Amino acid sequence: MKILLVEDNLLNQKVVTFHLQKKNYKVTGVTNWRDALTNFNNISFDLILMDIMLPEKNGYEITAEIRKIEEQNKTEKKIPIIAVTANALDNDKDRCLNAGMDEYLAKPFTSQDLYKMIGKFFKENTN
Ligand SMILES: [Mg+2]
Repeated sequence: MKILLVEDNLLNQKVVTFHLQKKNYKVTGVTNWRDALTNFNNISFDLILMDIMLPEKNGYEITAEIRKIEEQNKTEKKIPIIAVTANALDNDKDRCLNAGMDEYLAKPFTSQDLYKMIGKFFKENTN
């Protein structure tokens, strides 16, 4: 299970990585759109955790680029993208889904919230 974690706050990145590694997920952490797209293009991930507030390009824009790449490549199974955001406005979830993300996890969240959310996408092989 390979997860791409796009998060510019290094402390948050460290905490989330710690939780994910406890479940034996392999985590690649990046802090900006360039590294996110480079990794997405070069490594086959199973899931992306996408922060929204990022420098230069935000999570919505990066997601749009990823979906565009998938379309160009005629990717059969689109990668699940879970938005991770501190903005708890009610319409945020809609905005994330409209931007091509699959789910939405509001900060702050517990490790259990995180596992439960990821489990939605990997019911068959939850290890
Ligand atoms: Mg951020």
